[in-house]
Amino acid sequence: MHTAIYPGSFDPVTRGHLDIIERAAKTTDKLIVAVLNNGAKNSLFSVEERVKMLEEETKDIPNVEIRSFNGLLVEFAAQCDAHVIIRGLRAITDFEYELQMAQTNRVLNHNIDTLFLTADLKYSYVSSSTVKEVARFGGDISSFVTPNIANYVMKKFTIHSESK
Ligand code: ADP
Repeated sequence: MHTAIYPGSFDPVTRGHLDIIERAAKTTDKLIVAVLNNGAKNSLFSVEERVKMLEEETKDIPNVEIRSFNGLLVEFAAQCDAHVIIRGLRAITDFEYELQMAQTNRVLNHNIDTLFLTADLKYSYVSSSTVKEVARFGGDISSFVTPNIANYVMKKFTIHSESK
């Protein structure tokens, strides 16, 4: 069985991520979406929340599994028996960082390759950070995330502003 892994923070999952997930799932027997448990990074959503949101959004794609991980991606990929890492490329600004990561991962484990999917033009400007930025100021995020995710995001900002 061919397994690929799509890692990221997904804080929160956007329409751009979902497009990559759908397309990547068609290229492999099994796609593991690996949610980085970035304790140190300032996330809006806990890793459990991010996993839950991804599970809800991908429930109709049978060969997608959502898992969380911490530590080295190549080690987690090896544990999952995945030989391919999927990453999305939006613009040239993504490229330098992604190239460096892909080369580093290749040195760490020669059996694992990184494959890049280019972002759909519709979503090439979408990022989790801009979703949070727009939502923080009460803007409409429906072009960037699904209605279900928009609900979760808006709830976070309502709770935040009520607790101030
Ligand atoms: P990270 O914190 O590792 O960059 P992200 O959750 O921001 O994780 O993104 C995970 C992956 O999805 C990265 O490869 C990123 O380039 C890709 N990605 C993010 N947004 C989009 C988008 N709008 N279209 C396509 N790929 C995207």
